[in-house]
Amino acid sequence: MNHPSQPLPIAMKRSIPFFAVHLAALAGVFLVPFSWSMLALCAGLYYLRMFGITAGYHRYFSHRAYKTHRVFQFVIAWIGTMSVQKGVLWWAANHRHHHKFSDQPNDIHSPIQSGFWWSHVGWILNEKNDPVRWDQIPDLAKFPELIWLNNHFLIPPVLLAATLFAVGGWSAFIWGFCVSTVALWHGTFTINSLSHVFGSRRYQTTDTSRNNFWLALITLGEGWHNNHHTYMSSANQGFFWWEVDGSFYLLKTLSWIGVTHDLRKPPLKLLESKRIQPSRFARRSLLKMEKLVKSAS
Ligand SMILES: [Zn+2]
Ligand SMILES: [Zn+2]
Repeated sequence: MNHPSQPLPIAMKRSIPFFAVHLAALAGVFLVPFSWSMLALCAGLYYLRMFGITAGYHRYFSHRAYKTHRVFQFVIAWIGTMSVQKGVLWWAANHRHHHKFSDQPNDIHSPIQSGFWWSHVGWILNEKNDPVRWDQIPDLAKFPELIWLNNHFLIPPVLLAATLFAVGGWSAFIWGFCVSTVALWHGTFTINSLSHVFGSRRYQTTDTSRNNFWLALITLGEGWHNNHHTYMSSANQGFFWWEVDGSFYLLKTLSWIGVTHDLRKPPLKLLESKRIQPSRFARRSLLKMEKLVKSAS
């Protein structure tokens, strides 16, 4: 029997569309004329769908980091599904599994256990990881509309691609769908690969997760991955004001108009207890305390 963490060959036939979109993006930028408006369309659809993945697939469906009503729950699932990263239930179940076994032999996408490329993309293209891990998501499986969307995960991206082509022709299809989707795939995948390899570690966790400013920029805040593995059910992954977290800013804004609520925050006490090195603030307080004890004795 194959061990879950051992790299297996990817399902080549079924991966053809994945490679075809890469090829179309690569060739397309030379074939269609460049314009700034097309680049803006590409970036806009990148960040809109990244928000669907980070605030929806990840923080809401995988971690229940905030609450919302059923309509927005479906809307954010739809936006995430437009990213062509399979169904929302499939994604959330695999992700919960990742947190349970991070960088252990059972982790399905650990760069430490199975190599960089496997953690980046190989595990997605492998048939073995196709089934939905229903045992991980009993709370989500009770929504029939989510099950429907999960089973028909190609409808949102195909509709998006067709609309772009109908409205803006080949240019909009290439820039708005192909280039944007390829960037979005690899932007998202860096969190499974690069975020467990490059960056700093502030907190002691049982995995190799790291904090990385650049990855946080391209992933709307997911680059604070060591923070995230320290307290995964937090709605904000940037724990300090200088840790940019675009998804959280948007979720916070949505809470002001009543779309989201109960955004969870990490308990500061727990964070301090897991620090690899005490913070400058904690060090200063300790020094002050020591001085006080000395002067009292
Ligand atoms: Zn991770
Ligand atoms: Zn997570």
